[in-house]
Amino acid sequence: MTIGRVRAKGRNSEMSLLNVEDLKTYFYTNNKVVKAVDGVSFSVEKGETLAIVGESGSGKSVSSLSIMRLIPRPPGKIVGGRVVFGGQDLLTLSEEAIRRIRGNEISMVFQDPMSSLNPSYTVGNQILETLRLHRNLRGRDSRREAEKMFELVGISDAARRLKQYPHEYSGGMRQRAMIAMALSCNPRLLIADEPTTALDVTVQKQILRLMKRFQQELDTAIILITHDLAVVAEICDNVQVMYAGRCIEYSDVFHLFDRPMHPYTQGLLNSQPKLNQSVPLEPIEGSPPDLFDLGEGCPFSPRCPYSTEVCERQNPPLTEPVPAHFVSCHYPRLQEE
Ligand code: SF4
Repeated sequence: MTIGRVRAKGRNSEMSLLNVEDLKTYFYTNNKVVKAVDGVSFSVEKGETLAIVGESGSGKSVSSLSIMRLIPRPPGKIVGGRVVFGGQDLLTLSEEAIRRIRGNEISMVFQDPMSSLNPSYTVGNQILETLRLHRNLRGRDSRREAEKMFELVGISDAARRLKQYPHEYSGGMRQRAMIAMALSCNPRLLIADEPTTALDVTVQKQILRLMKRFQQELDTAIILITHDLAVVAEICDNVQVMYAGRCIEYSDVFHLFDRPMHPYTQGLLNSQPKLNQSVPLEPIEGSPPDLFDLGEGCPFSPRCPYSTEVCERQNPPLTEPVPAHFVSCHYPRLQEE
């Protein structure tokens, strides 16, 4: 089942910019198999921001790396599904064809810009290289474009900054430079993996606003991978909650925050601090499941206060008990209007 805003509107999901269908990415290690992403489906439209949320190890980042075909092999392998982008299945393309799509059409911003920027080259060299490879810009044209991008992302004195090395930038500036680089090719899809986690709150806000502004100007679709629900509430249209490599709830952001149906999503929301309320935070008891040993039942069952014998035996399918609101639970928490 492919889920997404298009489906909610009753339109054909093939019209989406990105259509991920039954994606399965496994890791083979020590004679065991980790099903890091196990049958995930979703779609993203032009101009939409989709949040993928969940704890560490839930499959958020592996999903996005699978879309880009950046799974290290071995030990990882995409063993099933389709990733249809702009009408073509990225999983069937040649290495050369997928390289053309990366950067040109789909760009990615990672959590730690230091691991993406090469410390031995100036930041300018790296953005000029991107412009040469993906937009065939050279010489003065590419320098002018790089300066323009830096100014757009709020890096002042761009000409001087371009000559500096990554270690001469602050954390916020490195992340801005990465965003400038990612957006310099006018991608149709930007995948941002925890882009603001390492930054302080004020810089975080600036970076998020920046991404949103670019999106409005260029109609870029964004997949935002995060565990920060405050960020999701602020800038996302739709949310996919992942747990143990599967999608367990999907909805537009308003319904997910207002009427979460999965006990795990409810737990996530209850564990967030609330302004003007001096109530203690409610953590989700227990630990994330061992992906080596998931068993047949609902993976959330050991931590779920509503778990029954059925839950321990059968993994619940993804259903749509409320229009455009999907959940994988035998006993979704339905609330009265
Ligand atoms: Fe809890 Fe059962 Fe729903 Fe799993 S299926 S989340 S154990 S109620």
